[in-house]
Amino acid sequence: MSEMRVRFAPSPTGYLHTGGARTALYNWLLARHAGGRFILRIEDTDRARSTREYLDAIIEDLTWLGLDWDEGPGIGGPRGPYFQSERADTYAPAIEKLLADGAAYHCFCTPEEIEERKKRSPKEGREWRYDRRCLDLSAEERESLLAEGRPAAVRFRVPEGTTTVDDTILGSVEFDNTELDDLVIARTDGTPTYNFVVVVDDLMMGITHVVRGSDHLSNTPKQVLIFRALGESPPRYGHLPLVLAQDGKVLSKRRGAVAVGEYRREGYLPEALVNYLALLGWSYDGVREIFTRDELVEKFDVAGIGRKPAAFDPDKLRWMNAQWIKRLPVSERTDRVLPFLVREGLVAEDLDAGERAHLESIVETVDDRLKTLGDIVGQAGFFLASDVIHDSIAVSKVLAKPGADETLAGLQQILSSAPDFEPATLEKLMRAFADERGLSLGKIVQPLRVAVTGGTASPGIFETLALLGRERSLARIEKARTLTG
Ligand code: GLU
Repeated sequence: MSEMRVRFAPSPTGYLHTGGARTALYNWLLARHAGGRFILRIEDTDRARSTREYLDAIIEDLTWLGLDWDEGPGIGGPRGPYFQSERADTYAPAIEKLLADGAAYHCFCTPEEIEERKKRSPKEGREWRYDRRCLDLSAEERESLLAEGRPAAVRFRVPEGTTTVDDTILGSVEFDNTELDDLVIARTDGTPTYNFVVVVDDLMMGITHVVRGSDHLSNTPKQVLIFRALGESPPRYGHLPLVLAQDGKVLSKRRGAVAVGEYRREGYLPEALVNYLALLGWSYDGVREIFTRDELVEKFDVAGIGRKPAAFDPDKLRWMNAQWIKRLPVSERTDRVLPFLVREGLVAEDLDAGERAHLESIVETVDDRLKTLGDIVGQAGFFLASDVIHDSIAVSKVLAKPGADETLAGLQQILSSAPDFEPATLEKLMRAFADERGLSLGKIVQPLRVAVTGGTASPGIFETLALLGRERSLARIEKARTLTG
């Protein structure tokens, strides 16, 4: 059997979103699973809408997701160039061949003429198709119009009959060729159109399998027919079911589709996004949910891709991200949260050994409270900020309550005279303090937590105090006492 060659073919006219990232991932997994090649082809024929910024972002996002390509931008390869805008030379001969074989014909109809005929044609509840006026021109008429220099587009001549797409995901899908227009494959200025260049590229790049969104399904019979007219067999196609938003509507840029870069900036792990996207339409046994990249490579197959639309669930993605953060050893978790803290100005980029060890202790104390890496700022910012900012709701709910000031005053004494500042020592002292006053430990911890962290939620209070150290803890309590009722 020949080597599997698949491609991801983004148009750099926007950022990489959920659906596109899933398509890229599935192709990558298929290639890696089969030991084939994953090709990245940039479909930048729409020069007006393609930008360098989008291209760079797509490349950055794919790289971040770990979807490395074997041929494509940056690395080249034997079947390049991998930018459609650089492949103009390959399209013209294919158009000439179709014209010579009678599989395509020149069309001199102007858009105005077509519009006029469209308007006049009886509506039969179906879309208007090109009426083939130029197909009926005699060879002499055609030659003389060309000699006159009349602008001519080239149309593909759709043959009679039906076209069956043997889809690896959807099964056999049949199209009646009368539903297909004699599509324009080259415009009057000679530039080839989308459905045509995709075929030539897939052919010249030796693509064996195409996996793409089912929004492309209506293009597939046209592409299959063009392949055949060129005397070649089409690749195997597989169309992925749509991704729906929470409300059951198609996920779109306006409806729930978040750009991969945004997930990165919020602190999602590529491991989590890859894991989540893999399960957005594919399932292993319907039960297991956590897969490493290597496990996905080993287990992924087309047979596990469902035909039903998949529902995108942002809460599930957050949950999965938390699972992946939890799995990271503390040192690596620290590496990954570091940029988020640097961005907020809470730590310097180049920590010395002592600062680094302190940060690792903080990360360890925060434990499994992170749903995203960005959560570190809310969970641990108070450890690192030079001063505490007391949240106004926490102040009125806790510090302003009767007895809070007295409790804090008592705690100031205990903490200033504690023999050491280890969590176990602090716990013992505070339990005794609570017993003495006939209060529950919780009653004491509440104002203390607000005093030293600024809010009502934090890691364990004894670890928190120990990490803050005596001096800072006492200074924060002192400040909090100016806010008590
Ligand atoms: N460039 C197309 C897109 O971004 C993909 C074409 C294909 O996969 O055949 O939607």
